[in-house]
Amino acid sequence: MNSSVKEVDKFTLPELPYALDALYPQISEETMRYHYGKHHQAYVNNLNTLIHNTPYENYSLEEIVLRSEGSIFNNAAQVWNHTFYFEQLSPFPQDVPMGVLAEAIVRDFGSLENLKNEIIRTATALFGSGWVWLACDKRDRLAVLPMQNAGNPLTHGMTPLLAVDVWEHAYYIDYRNRRADSIGALWDRIDWGCIEKRMPKN
Ligand code: MN
Repeated sequence: MNSSVKEVDKFTLPELPYALDALYPQISEETMRYHYGKHHQAYVNNLNTLIHNTPYENYSLEEIVLRSEGSIFNNAAQVWNHTFYFEQLSPFPQDVPMGVLAEAIVRDFGSLENLKNEIIRTATALFGSGWVWLACDKRDRLAVLPMQNAGNPLTHGMTPLLAVDVWEHAYYIDYRNRRADSIGALWDRIDWGCIEKRMPKN
């Protein structure tokens, strides 16, 4: 047998915690079929191909994101980012933040509405493809960060809390060019219970 033939893919597409049509009407089944079924899957497939027979085969996904660059970084970070993005959405979300997360949002943004407006403003101003993140720094301060392409707060030493995908593939089927409207709708599917679990544990 040729030992260079890949026997098992290291990474697989994570299962969604809900059905493809469960986020309708904010996100349609057609968008999910493309975004999860084709784009997310393609990043997984590309990553498996790119790391084959390289030292990255022995790394966790997070280690690859932190230690790679170029096309391996791009595909690894897109796998990580999309897994994180789909996990935070729910057909039955906890619709407001609670506890320490709620306190941190009021402390750093004034209100949840202000945070939403800052995320939409930042997403609208982000030129081209990328992500807008809510992340927590080492002093436990929250920040809204725009990042180009596959950017991820982990490479800046920050803890990602919420990911907003502003690649056109995330919204163009349902919202065409209306990026701000797509985020306003997405907001109603964010499970703040999930976001709170991502806060750094002290
Ligand atoms: Mn995407």
